Amino acid sequence: MRKREKAKIVFKELQKLYPQPKTELENWETEFQFLVCIMLSAQTTDVQVNKVTKEVFSKFPDVDAFANADVEDLEKVLHSINFYKTKSKHLIKMSQILIKDFDSKIPLFEKDLVKLPGIGKKTANVFLNELFHSNQGIAVDTHVSRVARRLELTNKKDPLGVSLDLEKLYEKENWYLINSMFVLFGRYVCKARKPLCEDCPLNDICKVGLEKKKNPQV
Ligand code: SF4
Repeated sequence: MRKREKAKIVFKELQKLYPQPKTELENWETEFQFLVCIMLSAQTTDVQVNKVTKEVFSKFPDVDAFANADVEDLEKVLHSINFYKTKSKHLIKMSQILIKDFDSKIPLFEKDLVKLPGIGKKTANVFLNELFHSNQGIAVDTHVSRVARRLELTNKKDPLGVSLDLEKLYEKENWYLINSMFVLFGRYVCKARKPLCEDCPLNDICKVGLEKKKNPQV
């Protein structure tokens, strides 16, 4: 099956599974708070992030509070998050730059966002796609990468390579859906360990799924 044809089937099936895919990050009310949640979620599960963000936003509710935060105070509330020391520094610096250069507003172009400390293509596009359906790029995390490789939509290992391959396969107007659908599918069906291939609607077009049908013991 040609890659483009397979990509279409994947999209159709994932839309059936997740007709309105949404982020599982909680406790945020403003664009700025959402950006903070996404930055914290790098190399950390959403569940772990959700455990701390209530306290984080009660102590540091907005860009001014983060810009003026004492790094040690911030580290204390973020200590259960992976790389909390680096993330604390990035959050403070990013907030100071937003105030100084962007009138306290978050820029809405990927090219500006990725210049801020702690923000790469993935974080920028999760933010832009989730809130604005912006379609400036496809965000690739560990779930998106794994699902795309297992389904042979890419053979790249680096997130940039995977996102460029996916961006070639999917209509730009649908890019905002790819990350959310692939993340949910990777989190709950095509899991890293023990993917649920028997229940997967894509098991007829997936090498791993077809292998498992032939040899259920694998
Ligand atoms: S068949 Fe298995 S490996 Fe393939 S996409 Fe489905 S869950 Fe993932």
